[in-house]
This record gives sequence, C-alpha cells and structure tokens, in this order.
Amino acid sequence: MADKQENDRELTGLYAAVHSAIWLIGLAVLFYTGDWFPGILILVAISGVAQALLLNKAKQEEAKAQAAQSARQAALAVPPVCPTCGAAINASSVVWSGVSTAHCPYCKAAIPLKA
Ligand SMILES: [Zn+2]
Repeated sequence: MADKQENDRELTGLYAAVHSAIWLIGLAVLFYTGDWFPGILILVAISGVAQALLLNKAKQEEAKAQAAQSARQAALAVPPVCPTCGAAINASSVVWSGVSTAHCPYCKAAIPLKA
C-alpha cells in the first residue's frame, strides 16, 4: 500500500509539471495568434488527454515495477547448487523459462525454487 501511495505522489508531480508546460505553451500560442475562443477549448482538451496518457503510463510503470519485484523474489529462491547434477548455479546462470520456473544451464533439469 505504501508503494501505491508513492506512485500516486510521483504521478501528481509529473502531471503537474507537464500540465504547467502544456498551459504555458498553449497560452503563449493563443496570445501570439489571438485566437482565444476555440483555442482555449482545444487547450483544455489537450490537457485532459495528457492527463489520461500520464495515468496510463503510471499504471504501466507500476506493473513493470511489480514484475521486477517478483523477478527479484524468484532470484532469491534459486538454490546454490543444482539438485540434479550438483553444479553451482545462481539466478543469472540458470535458464529462466518463466518468472517462477528455471532450468539448470548444465543438465537442463527443472530447478525447484524455494517458496
Ligand atoms: Zn544441473
């Protein structure tokens, strides 16, 4: 839960920065062209779309972070030696066939990961 709150805060900061940039650039364009009436509506629309895109991106980042975390947990679960052939193995030498399934690089046996 703490991580989720942190992501929300980051999104707020990022969105606030992009939001400010969109409005400053948009207002500069409107001031330069003098085309205030339909222009301000377009600016509001652009601002809304940017918020939706940033929310979507933040969700993807969160999913990526969770995948990385489960990969780290799986790496911790790799035993120091292969139970089938006794070769020294670690999370970077084994062949990963999934987030929680690994095979010995020497004998190709499936390695039982500690829970
Ligand atoms: Zn082996």
